Amino acid sequence: MLLINKNFKSVNPVIKVKRQIHPVGHGAFITEQFFDPEDKCIFTVVYDCGSRSKQLINKAITDFFNEGIKVDVLFISHFDSDHVNGLPNLSMHFSKDVKVFIPFFYQKLRNIYPKDKAIAIDLVFKTLKAHTINPIYVTYNANSYTSDELDINHPFNRSIKSGTHIHYYINEQIIWEYVPFNLFDEKAIYNKLKSLNIDFSATEAWSNEMIKDIRIIYHEMCSSINENSLIILSHTVKVRDINLQINDESCDWQCQNCSGCEYDRYKLNMTSAALYTGDSVLKANSGTKSKALKEFDIFLLVLCKEYAPVISLFQVPHHGSKNNSNSITLADKMILRLFVNCQEYNKIKHPNISQSLNKPIYIIDKSHGYNEEITFY
Ligand SMILES: [Zn+2]
Ligand SMILES: [Zn+2]
Repeated sequence: MLLINKNFKSVNPVIKVKRQIHPVGHGAFITEQFFDPEDKCIFTVVYDCGSRSKQLINKAITDFFNEGIKVDVLFISHFDSDHVNGLPNLSMHFSKDVKVFIPFFYQKLRNIYPKDKAIAIDLVFKTLKAHTINPIYVTYNANSYTSDELDINHPFNRSIKSGTHIHYYINEQIIWEYVPFNLFDEKAIYNKLKSLNIDFSATEAWSNEMIKDIRIIYHEMCSSINENSLIILSHTVKVRDINLQINDESCDWQCQNCSGCEYDRYKLNMTSAALYTGDSVLKANSGTKSKALKEFDIFLLVLCKEYAPVISLFQVPHHGSKNNSNSITLADKMILRLFVNCQEYNKIKHPNISQSLNKPIYIIDKSHGYNEEITFY
């Protein structure tokens, strides 16, 4: 028995994953690092990299990157400056074959966005171009999820379907899984515009009048012109022998109705699943749910049932805006803990979501970050 045990351990060394939500105020910069048994970082994944304060995001990037750390995978939720303006700086730390996942996007639609958003879009594509990186588009998928499974280290096609399971392997074993999810049917907009004889293929720019019309159609078909974010589920597919350590500081600081940081430790130890939502609109009003939210519910149900029993850590979308989520979303029993990327006392008063939830909320601002370490065999 002992021998078998020994063998098992040598084939399956302890894996350590460090998850960090960096203190960048109103913005987002989330990293996940995989370590080998010698505690050497062997793989780094980033979700969003931006802030309203360029100073904060650049400081966070400088603080994070020690010698030898390279970005292997980057997920960009959407093209808003507070999520992407750290990119030029971050790109200095890209690995040779970094993979960049972005939500599917028609370049031509760039022109319907307000100027500041168009600038952010250009910043993303310019930065990628400077490093000759072709982004991998995550396209909408009417079924919300797919059985497609891909190895994160293999070459990707130009696009993948929403719900594709992207696996990270160590010693030919699946260790971790990322599931990008795009709720926004950009093709439906394309088809609608086409049916109205609005030409996508013409090289000349749309007239201002046309842009106005397109904006109206856009608004009719989705709740917001700019908040359609790529959602990422990040979790281990190994649920046995898992141990989660949380730095409790940030929770002590402002835990609304928190039942203490011993909150459901048992459940926490069962799971590693985090759900990153960017600025998605995931709001439910009593009775009526947005199309995206209905799909989100299906997504949550299917993925929780089949892969992660609960979402251990959930990013409250859009910096805690009450327009993007409310207690119906956040009270979902599959969600254990929440975090909000925001800046206190800002003009737009984020976070302004309901604070009466009976679960821990971590406020990530300019001075409070969050980190946890997940170890398993
Ligand atoms: Zn946004
Ligand atoms: Zn934002």
